[in-house]
Amino acid sequence: MTNEQRQFTAQGQTFPVILVRKKVKNINLHVHSDGTLYISAPARVPWEYIEDFLQKKTDFIVRAMDEMAERKRKFPMLTLSDGDTLYLAGQPYKLDVRLGLQNSIRRSGQTVFMELADDTLVMKQKLYHKLLQSLGKKLFPASLSRMQPLFDGLALPDPVLKQRVMRSRWGSCMPLKGIVTMNTYLAIMPEEIIDHVMLHELCHFLQPNHSRHFYDAMTIRMPDWKARRQAMTKYLPYCV
Ligand SMILES: [Zn+2]
Repeated sequence: MTNEQRQFTAQGQTFPVILVRKKVKNINLHVHSDGTLYISAPARVPWEYIEDFLQKKTDFIVRAMDEMAERKRKFPMLTLSDGDTLYLAGQPYKLDVRLGLQNSIRRSGQTVFMELADDTLVMKQKLYHKLLQSLGKKLFPASLSRMQPLFDGLALPDPVLKQRVMRSRWGSCMPLKGIVTMNTYLAIMPEEIIDHVMLHELCHFLQPNHSRHFYDAMTIRMPDWKARRQAMTKYLPYCV
């Protein structure tokens, strides 16, 4: 198995290409989140042929790159370094990171204290998620009870509320199973922003898709939901 480094240019953009020669039947393309195109191809296929293959996939490649850029914009990364500003329920906190005897996280005053016996990003991430999860356990049910009355008389199911760290969406709803899942990262946002995500998910019990009827159902209940969605950018970055 050998690796070749190449470049591919399409629609005015140049992408690095890592070409791996191995025992495969076809040319396979994988668009990596760092903007690299990974290709596996049989040993004897010439580069010109692969370039031709990529040319035919240009639309797909450009679309995949755009989607990744959009995801990065919506979910920018936090490094969890000492002195960083973290948001919890809409309030700013200073992050204080120290080495210590144990791995722990706690909030006191306007500071989040993180003690690390194991100074790795994985451990920092684990502690940060733990803090957000414990906040979410209070914030999400509270939001549900604020939003449910907006559906009075519609026999909406009383949903099972879950939370999970997600990297591509704020919430999800499984109307048939009656499950609403909130992104744990929402615990950084103030109540009014969490509410608009909760309302969005609950509206899926009325409309499973994102049709005009869906957005009408949102707007009737929360005329300013778009402004709330826009305000989310104020709390970036927050994702590790
Ligand atoms: Zn939706």
